[in-house]
Amino acid sequence: MRRTHYCGNVNTSNVNEQVVLEGWVNRRRDLGGLIFIDLRDREGLVQVVVQPESPAYAEADRVRSEWVVRVTGTVRARPAEQVNARIASGEVEVVAEGLEVLAEAKTPPFPVDAAWRGEEDQAVSEDIRMRYRVVDLRRRALQRNLRLRHKVVAAIYRFLDQEGFISVETPFLTRSTPEGARDFLVPSRLQPGQFYALPQSPQLFKQMLMVAGYDRYFQIARCFRDEDLRADRQPDFTQLDLEMSFVDQEDVLELNERLAAYVFEEALGVELPIPFPRMTYAEAMNRYGSDKPDLRFGLEMRDVTERFRGGEFRAFAGAEVVKALVAPAALSRREIEELEAIAKGKGAAGLAWSRYEGGAFSGGIAKFIPEGLARELGVQEGQTALFVAGPWRKSVESLGAVRLELGKRLGLAEEGFKFLWVVDFPLLEWDEENGRWTYMHHPFTSPNLEDLELLERDPGKVRARAYDMVMNGTEVGGGSIRIHRRDLQERMFALLGIGPEEAQEKFGFLLEALSFGAPPHGGIAWGLDRWVANMAGEDSIREVIAFPKNKEGRDPLTEAPSPVAEAQLAELGIALRKSDG
Ligand code: ASP
Repeated sequence: MRRTHYCGNVNTSNVNEQVVLEGWVNRRRDLGGLIFIDLRDREGLVQVVVQPESPAYAEADRVRSEWVVRVTGTVRARPAEQVNARIASGEVEVVAEGLEVLAEAKTPPFPVDAAWRGEEDQAVSEDIRMRYRVVDLRRRALQRNLRLRHKVVAAIYRFLDQEGFISVETPFLTRSTPEGARDFLVPSRLQPGQFYALPQSPQLFKQMLMVAGYDRYFQIARCFRDEDLRADRQPDFTQLDLEMSFVDQEDVLELNERLAAYVFEEALGVELPIPFPRMTYAEAMNRYGSDKPDLRFGLEMRDVTERFRGGEFRAFAGAEVVKALVAPAALSRREIEELEAIAKGKGAAGLAWSRYEGGAFSGGIAKFIPEGLARELGVQEGQTALFVAGPWRKSVESLGAVRLELGKRLGLAEEGFKFLWVVDFPLLEWDEENGRWTYMHHPFTSPNLEDLELLERDPGKVRARAYDMVMNGTEVGGGSIRIHRRDLQERMFALLGIGPEEAQEKFGFLLEALSFGAPPHGGIAWGLDRWVANMAGEDSIREVIAFPKNKEGRDPLTEAPSPVAEAQLAELGIALRKSDG
């Protein structure tokens, strides 16, 4: 007796057929003699009817939620008034002739049946869900998300295979790859006192594959970064990593747009318009106050520095920049205070404001606003102008944060997906804490060749050949054209304060590879978890990862990380400091 159909796939075309179904009891109801079992598998539900005279009756009377059973029966059409439009198999039911219990089940810690019936699942705390992940994973939303994820990955493989990419696996136990985070270390038993690092990305391996002539590489790669956890970070996460030889930036962008469009079409049936808009970093920061602007709504910032320059309003008169934003609403004092707190959180000294009422600005800094500014900003009756003044970066970022909050509060974002490329990032940024230049992407990113002569003279002005892919205000991919010449890579290390010895010790293998004839190359990595979460309409990447870690980086299911036996540590030559225990 073998399964003939998935429960959720039984439909009117099977009427009068004998079927064998296997699955979980979603719900059992006893209606005065007749027993109804909603039987569930990954495809959905079907209603099983057990009549009192059926040989299945005694067992059916015993089963409970989440028991695993095998049912044999005959499909029949339901009378019109009993059709259940909320489930796909709602026009039919299966009249049971046999029922075998394959496994009994404890009462689940929380119900998983509601969404399968077309109702809303009960809210359950995330830690409980993770602790009982096996049960949680039965829920409809997670089943859908993981299948979407599979479709995305399958589409990626198909597309890149057609485009001549080959997938290559790179090691987990390796040396440190700098991507700006701390490494996870793995002690070596065979070389006591020595450690592997888990890769923060396959960056250097993919570059070496290019030097080795593989031309087009990709990998669905697990990456490991020991970062302070933010809401939406996982210590181990997945990238689509790819690299191409003999290409320029535009080739990489173009290929990735086509890949994105293919993935959306195949996995969601959504058509993405390509090419995506391209915006320089400077423009994104100036207009949206972010290097990952959410283009689902307008609300652009305007530069009004010159209009206030040398004026009566001291706070603005000598500021490096003054930025303005027009909120399409008459904001209350209270709302303005809340927005100001957000701006201050990003380093602004304050948030100035004025409402446009009765054809003129009133309240806030009204008396300081120069003639004609209302017209220039296009402010309309009942709207509120907001201003931040100060150093450029802090000002644009803080007003950008206000912009995002307004977008959220006023519900300005359009439905759907808005992609763009942000290009021309600075190569370096000044690291206040350590008093030196540091890379913005990673140390292997090529400077814009037009800016090469600025490299030592004015490093902050050098643009990188780096690009980010942005979807609905989140960075979902980032990459660059790489340095493929050893001398330039050495210059770059020097700029970053990595001397020749340190460079040799840490990256000798890369420098050596570059000296064996490296093609020009570049690539990108997509944050696959974020991609799929956005596609699934989920806020958290934990909703698209089968076995995620919680916000403390722990796995409540397996209880990792965990202490290990003294003997295991001894084998590794490791002793723990007692005070930490
Ligand atoms: N390795 C980079 C990262 O993980 C991506 C790339 O440059 O291709 O962000």
